[in-house]
Amino acid sequence: MYLLSKIISIYLRLYLIISRIILKNDWHLIANCKEQNNMNQKTVSILGATGSIGIQTLDVIKKNPENYNLNYLTINSNYKKLLEILDIFNPHGVVITDENAYKEFKASTNFKGEILFGYDSLNSIASDNSNDLLVSALVGFSGVIPTYLALQNRIDVALANKETLVSAGNIITQAAKNNNSRLIAIDSEHSAILQCLVGEEVKSVEKIILTASGGPFRNTDLDDFKNITVKQALNHPNWSMGSKITIDSSTMMNKGFEVIEAHWLFGTELSQIDVTIHPQSIIHSMVQFVDGSIKAQLGLPDMKIPISYALNYPERLYYDFQRLTIDKMSKLEFYEPDFQRYPCLRLSYESMELGGNSNAVLNASNEVCVAAFLEERISFIEINQIIEKTLSNIDYIENPDLNQIIETDLESRKYTENLINKKK
Ligand code: NDP
Ligand code: MG
Repeated sequence: MYLLSKIISIYLRLYLIISRIILKNDWHLIANCKEQNNMNQKTVSILGATGSIGIQTLDVIKKNPENYNLNYLTINSNYKKLLEILDIFNPHGVVITDENAYKEFKASTNFKGEILFGYDSLNSIASDNSNDLLVSALVGFSGVIPTYLALQNRIDVALANKETLVSAGNIITQAAKNNNSRLIAIDSEHSAILQCLVGEEVKSVEKIILTASGGPFRNTDLDDFKNITVKQALNHPNWSMGSKITIDSSTMMNKGFEVIEAHWLFGTELSQIDVTIHPQSIIHSMVQFVDGSIKAQLGLPDMKIPISYALNYPERLYYDFQRLTIDKMSKLEFYEPDFQRYPCLRLSYESMELGGNSNAVLNASNEVCVAAFLEERISFIEINQIIEKTLSNIDYIENPDLNQIIETDLESRKYTENLINKKK
């Protein structure tokens, strides 16, 4: 019986690899073939398990535990949260990248699985071939290398960490294409687009319409922007997320990043990607086709829905998450975004037009500025000013390789830090 199920499993894996090669689909990096057989559990590792996406991924897994085999969980420093997670889940191993947290964790746990330390371990578990799927949910540039390594090793990636595509979109998507590994979006807008594109062809797509909530400052008087506090910027009207993406949402850099993310994931030109402000966050995005028809994906603003879709793509599993009811759809509004209110959105478009290593500069400088704003070292309106200066001062590289992207990231961080320090 064991032998038979092993033979079937090998056969299905071979089928999967061959069908991926045959069914390579142009418009995105997700072959339109059936993933996984129901007989097998999907082996999943989560990078950033203690984060907002990480915890919600674990919530999704908890609903249907028989479908998943939890391989590795990684965290940076929040070992107390990891201890709580291990009260419920029993992964094969954990990786902790912060040295103090690693020591504290070791001293306070009786976890019997592997306990690993540092970025070398993180990179090696990301590319561990026992993974069927890697959930990439680190924050910022830290996600680039493990995501790249997983794709290079033919491991499918459910991607939340959009900064990976912003910084190194060309390299990451090439790694997926060259190795027939799938890059499945977790970001709610890109999950919506993916759901609209199922069954469609690239030549039928006219336009992608990304929705944005507009963040907490959609109606704030422009004269008051200079007084925006950290607390106000962290108060997102619709979504509860980690602090970095919450600030990015308030500046709308997040939406700019999502335009770049959509370009790389779906192969659409910048001119084919529109952004509309939709304060209710019910329509998660839309695709307009050449015949004038528009498909939209709707749902409550709950990241567990796109996470579940990414974990099970192209199937859907039953979940009892709260349902969107008709009364919540009685008022759906849409507005043009205003570059004066959201200069970071303008910067993203400009950086994308420039291409080369510009998006890596944009991302690195933004990471440093957001951290500085959270530490109250710069004001809200200085975020875009400092990024703009950095963008115009870092050497342009037309076709950067991964090493040049890493160098650009370091150089841009240093440059931005200097600008911030000079202010004092
Ligand atoms: P959080 O800040 O909540 O969590 C980040 C996770 O990554 C934590 O587990 C953290 O560990 C770990 N981590 C952070 N920095 C590092 C580092 N330098 N090295 C190693 N591990 C690190 O972030 P979110 O979950 O909100 O976001 C994750 C990604 O998903 C981001 O790219 C974001 O843009 C994207 N995203 C998030 C959404 C959301 O709803 N939250 C929606 C769409 C996209 P520790 O806890 O130990 O610090
Ligand atoms: Mg999003």
